[in-house]
Amino acid sequence: MRGGVELVRIDRGILVRGNLDTEVDVACSRCMTPFSCALSLDIEEEYSPATDVHTGASLPLPDEPGCFIIDEHHVLDLTEAIRQYAVLALPMKPLCRKDCAGLCPNCGHNLNRGSCDCLAHEIDPRWSKLEGCLATLPSLSSTFLE
Ligand SMILES: [Zn+2]
Ligand SMILES: [Zn+2]
Repeated sequence: MRGGVELVRIDRGILVRGNLDTEVDVACSRCMTPFSCALSLDIEEEYSPATDVHTGASLPLPDEPGCFIIDEHHVLDLTEAIRQYAVLALPMKPLCRKDCAGLCPNCGHNLNRGSCDCLAHEIDPRWSKLEGCLATLPSLSSTFLE
């Protein structure tokens, strides 16, 4: 993970702002091969302290759901925020590459590694219909197939 964050003191705590480049391991939505997906995250989150830095007294936490807390040890942990941003930034259907060939629906072979035997035998459903048609017209089919 690379990038920089800036911590700005605000009334309610600390504003964390920055940009992080990170890589997340995901599985390709077509061929299921795991790969690293590069993400660039623009982060801006407010962190509220759980305890007063000077007195050590517990502070009332903001009501907002999902707000980030600086814990009683005064540790500002960015992990959860980064995880949430990464989830949002992830593509819905990640692809290991733009032209990923996917898996053979028949045998599950990864077609990026070359074709399997199924394709040669399989007849496109549109053609199989035509083939049925031709079979009912023997004379015509022979002229077609010549
Ligand atoms: Zn793929
Ligand atoms: Zn196959």
